[in-house]
Amino acid sequence: YRPVEFLTQLREEVTEMDVNQYPDTSYSSLREALSSYTGHGVDCFVIANGADEALDIVAKTFLDAGGKAVISTPTYSYFRIVTEIMGCKPVYVPRKGDFSDDVDGIIEASKDAGVVFLCSPNNPTGNLTGEEAVERILKETDATVVVDEAYYEFCGQTAAKLTRRYDNLVVVRTFSKAFSLAGARVGYIIASEESVNLLNKVRPPNSLSVISLWLAEKALENAEVMMRNVRELMAEKERVVRELEGLEGVKVFPGEANFILVKLTRGNADELHLKLMQRGLVLRNLSHAPGLENCLRITIHKPENNDKLLNSLRQLLEST
Ligand code: PMP
Repeated sequence: YRPVEFLTQLREEVTEMDVNQYPDTSYSSLREALSSYTGHGVDCFVIANGADEALDIVAKTFLDAGGKAVISTPTYSYFRIVTEIMGCKPVYVPRKGDFSDDVDGIIEASKDAGVVFLCSPNNPTGNLTGEEAVERILKETDATVVVDEAYYEFCGQTAAKLTRRYDNLVVVRTFSKAFSLAGARVGYIIASEESVNLLNKVRPPNSLSVISLWLAEKALENAEVMMRNVRELMAEKERVVRELEGLEGVKVFPGEANFILVKLTRGNADELHLKLMQRGLVLRNLSHAPGLENCLRITIHKPENNDKLLNSLRQLLEST
């Protein structure tokens, strides 16, 4: 879904934009818009150049070289990367058979860790980490608990409310997914004012462009467009899940985001991935990630693209 409505408006307004000036370093206008969108105070946000920069800022703020970060795996690979860049050791807590978090294992591993990385909905399995689970972890650890909610809008479930009671909770979100602005590079953190003050000491002062800031604000102004797209996409996802469940040789993990994890119970994921690629259909091949043997991730597209994929899957799986 390209955000056509506000791109048209950008074309009209761009000649008046103060691109010769630095942006307002505090990004106050976007923080006000986020406050209306989320219900959190304007001082509870840190704006970043995508959720990835937000994760980097969190790691720099709360990890010391030689320390540890707990990661509930399989999950988004950037948690490991920001941990290692800080000279810290990732401690992996494998998810259970249904890919839900092993909350007891996370609590146990977090005793001497600086950060715990959770992801809800989790990329690439789609599992949610419920508010009670996040709160249990927060109560039992002194580590900073990060909940990456990059896919929040697809499920509507959030741990952000808990930032009002727990200083050690940091929620990371992005405009890259439901808001269709991956190329604009805008993400944000919701946290307590105390944590925001610490994060602000670390974040680069001007990592967003005035154009990206404008696009993010427009996206929030048009949040109902995003919601409509999400509803349409999630209805289409249900259809694709039903179709996939009817195929022989695949186990489907529907999850709560705009993608579906599938595990091949017959045939080889590398081979299928390659054959689909030759037909111009690009899935995410996860089959070499620990815990995701023979798995591929399908991102939901418009119906006609999804149909192309389903037809190809049908043909290729029948011939294995
Ligand atoms: N977190 C998760 C869980 C993601 O899947 C992604 C995108 N791959 C990101 C963060 C990065 O988002 P952004 O484009 O805002 O940097």
